[in-house]
Amino acid sequence: PLALRIKDVGKTYTGHRGTAVEALRGIDLDVAEGEFVCLVGASGCGKSTLLRLVAGFEDITSGQLDARNGPVDGPGPDRGVVFQDYGLFPWLTVAANIAYGPRQRGLPSAEITARTARYLTMVQLDSFAERYPSELSGGMQQRVAIARVLANDPAVLLMDEPFGALDSLTRERLQHSLTEIWQQVRPTVLFVTHSVEEALFLADRVIVMSGGPNHGVPGHIVHEERV
Ligand code: ADP
Ligand code: ADP
Repeated sequence: PLALRIKDVGKTYTGHRGTAVEALRGIDLDVAEGEFVCLVGASGCGKSTLLRLVAGFEDITSGQLDARNGPVDGPGPDRGVVFQDYGLFPWLTVAANIAYGPRQRGLPSAEITARTARYLTMVQLDSFAERYPSELSGGMQQRVAIARVLANDPAVLLMDEPFGALDSLTRERLQHSLTEIWQQVRPTVLFVTHSVEEALFLADRVIVMSGGPNHGVPGHIVHEERV
C-alpha cells in the first residue's frame, strides 16, 4: 500500500510585488508504506517546499497530494516533522517533550508513560529524562526531537536536513541511530538532504531534484534510483 501519492503537483508562491514564483512543477512521486526515501538536489530546487506540502504547512497549487487518510489538507498527527533546528520546548524536560504529543491527544497516562519510556530508550537518553534541552548537545537534542515525533506514532516521518547543523562525527552517529530506529519502528520516511552521501547511506530510494526559480525553470525530479 501507498503512504504518499503525489500526482503532477505544482507549487507557485507569490513573491515580491505579487510576482509568481513557480517553485515546483509536475512532481510525480509515490511512496510505499515503510519506504525510506531521500530527496537530494542543489539549494533552491524545491526539496523543502515539497516536504512542507506533504506536511500540510502549505497548500499545493496544482495536482493531487494524498496521504493514507486521503487528500492532504493541513498538518496532522499522521505526518510528523523533524526540523534542522530541533524545535524542542525549552521549558519542558526531555521526558515532557517526548510526552507532549500523547498528552495533547489525551492518551491514558499509563500509555503516555509507556511511550515516553520506549522512545527515551530507543534514542538512548534514559539518564537524561529530567534534564532540559539547553543542557544537552545538539546531537542529543535532535535525538529528543526524533523521539518526540515518534511518540505520536506517525505513519510518515518528514525530515528536513535534520542533521545539517551537526558536526560530522555526530552526524554519522545520528545516521546510524536513525537507521536502527527505522528498522525497529518502520515508519515511512521522506528525508531532505543536500548530501548525496547521506542519501545513499540512509535511503531505499533516492530522488534527485533540479531546477528552481533561480535557474529559470521550476523545481522538478530528474532522476530516481533504488539503493
Ligand atoms: P530547497 O529546499 O531545495 O533549497 P526550497 O524549497 O527552500 O528549496 O525553495 C525553492 C524555491 O522556492 C527557492 O527559489 C525559494 O526562494 C522559493 N521559495 C521558498 N519559499 C518561498 C516563499 N515562502 N515565498 C517565495 N518563494 C519561496
Ligand atoms: P511533569 O512534571 O510535567 O510530569 P516530567 O518531566 O516529570 O514532567 O514528565 C513528563 C511525563 O513524561 C510524565 O507524565 C511521565 O509520563 C513521563 N516520564 C517522565 N520521566 C519518565 C521516565 N524516566 N520514563 C518514562 N516516562 C517518563
